[in-house]
Amino acid sequence: MSGQGHQYIDGRHRPGTSGESHEVLNPATGEIVAHVDVASASDVHDAVVAAGRAHSEWSGATPGDRATALIALAAAMSDRAEEYAQVETAQAGKPIKLTREFDVPGAIDNVSFYSGAARNLEGRASGEYDSSHTSIVRRESVGVVGSIAPWNYPLQMAVWKVLPAIAAGNTIVLKPAEITPLTSVMLAEDCTRAGIPDGVVNVICGRGRVAGEALLAHPGVRMVSFTGSTPVGQRVMEIAAQTVKRVHLELGGKAPFLVFDDADLEAAIHGAVAGALINSGQDCTAATRAYIQRPLYDAFVSGVADLMAAVRLGDPTDPSTDQGPLVSRVQQASVAGYIDRARAAGARVLVGGRAPGGDLAAGAYYEPTLVVDAAQDSEIVQQELFGPVLVALPFDSDDEGLRLANDSPFGLAASAWTRDVLRSMRASREIAAGCVWINDHIPIVSEMPHGGFKASGFGKDMSQYSFDEYTQIKHVSIEISGVARKDWHRTIFGDR
Ligand code: NAD
Repeated sequence: MSGQGHQYIDGRHRPGTSGESHEVLNPATGEIVAHVDVASASDVHDAVVAAGRAHSEWSGATPGDRATALIALAAAMSDRAEEYAQVETAQAGKPIKLTREFDVPGAIDNVSFYSGAARNLEGRASGEYDSSHTSIVRRESVGVVGSIAPWNYPLQMAVWKVLPAIAAGNTIVLKPAEITPLTSVMLAEDCTRAGIPDGVVNVICGRGRVAGEALLAHPGVRMVSFTGSTPVGQRVMEIAAQTVKRVHLELGGKAPFLVFDDADLEAAIHGAVAGALINSGQDCTAATRAYIQRPLYDAFVSGVADLMAAVRLGDPTDPSTDQGPLVSRVQQASVAGYIDRARAAGARVLVGGRAPGGDLAAGAYYEPTLVVDAAQDSEIVQQELFGPVLVALPFDSDDEGLRLANDSPFGLAASAWTRDVLRSMRASREIAAGCVWINDHIPIVSEMPHGGFKASGFGKDMSQYSFDEYTQIKHVSIEISGVARKDWHRTIFGDR
């Protein structure tokens, strides 16, 4: 590794050539964490060219050789796990216990998973499907992948994009979010340390409208994988359509949390508070709309209110802090706007609903917030706000609860809380979402797919399903009869 600058292209650092510098701010304090040189479209071009050059060697390596490199990557990341946790906390404001116990180990586990998946590059058929041909199905890499990631779990999102792509033999250019690029650059450095060839993993730190769009439009990129908001996902599809790129989209969410009247109330209350407040609610699968069957509604609301009020909001570097700031002042103002408008529309805020003052006023904090009496069709129930906010609404029949849970443009994740096996089976069948938890909300594992239905996108992250999406299928058909004049030639030559 050599050179200065935040772009990581062809195995080395170099400065972005846009002439612009961007300040990465610590959202807990407003202090500058880093000055990042910003990529131009020409830097993106260089990264795509480097990735294209690296593709033939990397895709030609055996699955075993790629697996060995990924095992070394997991080790390189483990060696500086604490540094990853500290940098992630500084740039995104996440509580250090979350980055130490979830973000960083989760990312490393994902790398380990794909070191195994790399060896599962297999087609499904090899045989004779008519008497004169043997068919083989080859599963091949797609080529250069362009990936664009959001700011909410910067390291995990980078890993979810990079690892299945390179495990399958692709090379990649990743653009992290402008405000949280630092751990993605560390990941690229560790790829080099682990012996992954130069150019296989490149990171571009730049603006969405400039570097992001240049990456999406570049003719050398064969597939784009994007995680972020639904409106930007629509733009990604539009640009990718011009050059017919494969598109993989992980978009927004507005997860319902459905509590039936036989649920374990204590479990549901704890699950709702943890599920709504994880990562300050900036989680695409966070519990956002709690629907409670009428007999449990009052007890649920008062239990959640008590528990939320006890959540320790504060300095994210303090291991006892439960909830840190939001990622930025912009995000704080956006969440505050949603709550103000919900109040104006007649909803009641039972807990929180404001930015704290005192020592926390210098940061982008927002208090854990519980909203009731909102209308099902109101903005606060329908739109993704990405903050520490739970809306609770009552329902009567099971049919009504399931209908309300599905009454959303999104379909990323959902949970249902019940001790009745038939209800749990019905909920898991009828809720239109890419993940349905029963009696829990949030836990994920590297082996299982993550991805949405409806406006939450398509394509899966994590798991073998994701690996498969970064491959393309080729049918090879080998003539085995040795006959020069085939029967089917009659369609052209008649009886000659
Ligand atoms: P965002 O859509 O604003 O930005 C995401 C990325 O897209 C950033 O890197 C940004 O620079 C880039 N970008 C913005 N405009 C672009 C353009 N015109 N062309 C190309 N790239 C562009 O999202 P965000 O605010 O960073 O993240 C929050 C969103 O991400 C939420 O909607 C959340 O639900 C979603 N998210 C989804 C998942 C999932 O797995 N479904 C996971 C995490 C976050």
